[in-house]
Amino acid sequence: MLKKYDYQSLKEEERQQLVARNTDPNNAIQDVVQDIIQKVRIQGDTVLREYAEKFDKVQLDKLFLDADDIDELAATIQRDQQRALEIAFQNIHRFHSTQLKRERTVETMPGVKCWREIRPIEKVGLYIPGGSAVLPSTLLMLGIPARIAGCKEIVVCSPPQSNGKINGFVAYCLKLLNIKRIYLVGGAQAVAAMAFGTQSIPKVDKIFGPGNQFVTKAKSIIQGLTNVSIDMPAGPSEVLVIADESANPAFVAADLLAQAEHGADSQAVLVATSTAIVDAVNTQIETQLTVLPRKELASRAIENSYAVTVGNLQEAIQFSNEYAPEHLILETDQWESLTRHISNAGSVFLGHLTPESAGDYASGTNHTLPTSGYARSYSGVSVDSFVKKITFQHINETGLQQIGSTVEILAELEGLQAHKNAVSIRTEQV
Ligand code: NAD
Repeated sequence: MLKKYDYQSLKEEERQQLVARNTDPNNAIQDVVQDIIQKVRIQGDTVLREYAEKFDKVQLDKLFLDADDIDELAATIQRDQQRALEIAFQNIHRFHSTQLKRERTVETMPGVKCWREIRPIEKVGLYIPGGSAVLPSTLLMLGIPARIAGCKEIVVCSPPQSNGKINGFVAYCLKLLNIKRIYLVGGAQAVAAMAFGTQSIPKVDKIFGPGNQFVTKAKSIIQGLTNVSIDMPAGPSEVLVIADESANPAFVAADLLAQAEHGADSQAVLVATSTAIVDAVNTQIETQLTVLPRKELASRAIENSYAVTVGNLQEAIQFSNEYAPEHLILETDQWESLTRHISNAGSVFLGHLTPESAGDYASGTNHTLPTSGYARSYSGVSVDSFVKKITFQHINETGLQQIGSTVEILAELEGLQAHKNAVSIRTEQV
């Protein structure tokens, strides 16, 4: 059952508490992860094998699988499963391939031309979660934009299964992406390995991918320790569903449970325009939960979740903007008039027939999204995440005459004489 709150009766402090996520208050995760990072940095492959034994319960001879192993595993999946992955691949590719846009050159003054050009990040590391559920969809969500961007080296890490392999679906996605090696490393140790490099695993320039709290914490720590950047903090998944009288309580419950089954630390929030809706959804949650194979995890997540009753849809959007959800679903006929008021969300699902699951797998949008309130300042993964935009400029004789004195005056007022000279030495000669 979702705990119930009434928006109007909440004090400011209580609202702040509700929208805050559980972010390792006692630094327990931070301490574990810092230790893992240091060990990987010093001991490399040796300690990666030890962690595989400890966390993934498998002894590994080699820390990767190559093309032959990948082909063999990919061949084990059924044709309809291959076809579903191919359709997802095509839709994600279609949506993302529009994202590389060339910008025009701007002549800011006569003879002063400025422009930006796109270059791929050369070496990227993709983390594909594989603890409680194997997520081949994440490989497509990261690998497709990396390929479209033109990244030269794509390093993929994912926790090994207990047989020392990966599952056939991940293998099939590797083939679709033409990636010929996968490293069998999970958790914080995978992030550290890609940040520092080990005997087997190449160091990369940027690390991508969602994961549990260990993975997310490792990504935030290595940012401060190295010159390796990260896509965003994409931790335990969350959804916020806004529902009014037009919503079908069974659909709403199904969407909340779809999020809850990710893990006990996932959060599913319902914002409804009446307590009757909350009660009807709670009844549906009870019914639908009983038949879910992952009901243990899902019911623990539901215990950490809640419902807020609001006076109207404007209040619902206000609360949602404060929460800044990774996924936002609008289960109301009024969705068209609400979208322009949404200011903080990772990805938004509109109307009664748009389940979040569609975006998780196959509609085309990316499912690697900012969690824990980071949707206030981060976007989800896109082709942009895999490129840099370099600025260029060219100044001709006219341009130098146009801009010269402005730069000289500004350099002088900042007391930087050498800057002024770099202009003067040229203007004297043209
Ligand atoms: P995972 O691959 O993230 O983590 C598994 C690894 O965690 C293990 O291999 C192990 O190395 C490490 N680990 C486990 N227990 C540990 C411990 N006690 N100490 C140190 N390390 C430990 O897989 P998962 O656990 O299934 O988590 C996947 C997560 O990804 C979920 O929380 C899900 O919500 C999230 N997710 C987020 C998005 C997003 O876009 N934000 C998308 C998909 C999934």
